[in-house]
Amino acid sequence: MRTMEFIRKFDQVKGIVMVLLLLASCSSGGGNDAPLIDEDTQAPTKPSGLIVENVTQTTAELRWDASTDNIGVKNYSIYQNGSYLASSGQTFYALDNLEPGNVYTYQVMAADAAGNESGLSQILEVATVGAIAAELQFASGNIDSYLNNLIDMVPGSGENGYRPPSVPELEQWNSVIDALLGQNISEAVSKAVDFNYQITEFTDTGLSPNQVFYVLAEYDANKSNYWGIYVFSKTPEKENLVVMAPHIKYDTNTGYQAAYSFRNNVGKALLLSSAHRCNSGDTSECSGTTSACGSSGAYRISDLAHNTISAFQKTTEAITTSLPNTVFVQLHGFGKGEGDPDVIMSNGTDQTPETDYAALIRDALLEKDASLTFKIAHIDTDWTRLRGFTNTQGRFINSSPNPCSVSATETSGRFIHIEQAKPKLREDTSGWDKMSNALGSVF
Ligand SMILES: [Zn+2]
Repeated sequence: MRTMEFIRKFDQVKGIVMVLLLLASCSSGGGNDAPLIDEDTQAPTKPSGLIVENVTQTTAELRWDASTDNIGVKNYSIYQNGSYLASSGQTFYALDNLEPGNVYTYQVMAADAAGNESGLSQILEVATVGAIAAELQFASGNIDSYLNNLIDMVPGSGENGYRPPSVPELEQWNSVIDALLGQNISEAVSKAVDFNYQITEFTDTGLSPNQVFYVLAEYDANKSNYWGIYVFSKTPEKENLVVMAPHIKYDTNTGYQAAYSFRNNVGKALLLSSAHRCNSGDTSECSGTTSACGSSGAYRISDLAHNTISAFQKTTEAITTSLPNTVFVQLHGFGKGEGDPDVIMSNGTDQTPETDYAALIRDALLEKDASLTFKIAHIDTDWTRLRGFTNTQGRFINSSPNPCSVSATETSGRFIHIEQAKPKLREDTSGWDKMSNALGSVF
């Protein structure tokens, strides 16, 4: 930064410098008649300290220490496998379009404004992360601990790791989910690998009888998509129950709570986000605003509850369509203010469905904890906050003509949006137990 500033300033004051040099030459008073050297012939020092960071299958970041120069370094040339690749005005270069499982060599050379070039730096070898194997993985133990470990690795706000899927990628994602729902596991495995996603057949040996789950997740240590974590029961006990948590980092403990409720009930499917809702700086085109990421503004593309161009949405669509009796229970959390209830529930609309799961879940929760207070959108119609009407999964499940921008006007009753205050339900396992048991008695 400092070097660049100096170069810019140098350009502006070059004339003045030349005059000063001339004065210096005259005032030396030695009668020296040698011609004035007005050209910079001194090359910058060779760049050192070349390192690589954040290596993935296809990207990596090169960094090095600034070279020094009598006038100033103008830029650096990056050489890949001995050939010129690109130049950078900073001591940093982001590599992309690399091949997974490949080894590359890099060198950096500095140049000043006069075109004097340093020698090439020492060679740095960079090995990209290998492509994951298109093979079903196996693991066993407690699915809850296994998932909690994945949840703990989820990146936070502003880290910009989330990559939006393209439309063709979403079509392929849809076929991965269809294959999983159809128990065509090997087909799902071979299609998921293109997204850096692997499927693990997980046997939960702590459940009686033991249960087999298929976990669809990005396993690479250097993840590149963050499209969510998806789990399907091979032989669900509650085959209509789908548990979802799209804000596992922002809505404290909702990821753990969702996994806990899913396992205890052996539900059909569990859908979790795998990046903070504010992970990306890019905004979703879908309607609604939030102050979750700072000042009030559009939802981010990493906010999976408010973006139709996502694997989370696609998974919801696939399940909604293939399994018409499923009900999606989406767990959220909110900061309880004065006058707020403990639970705000909604089916995504203010309409009353034929089977009122929100009311059933309320009654079941009250049996576990009679002190809980509630607001339900279609019952307490004067209540207007946190009703989840902009939730794009809810809009789809309730047949909105455009889930990204139009709230649903009728309800299928298959989407239940649950906002929970922290103390009684989200704080610890005793709270998660209430929700888990309530879902168990309703479904
Ligand atoms: Zn939320």
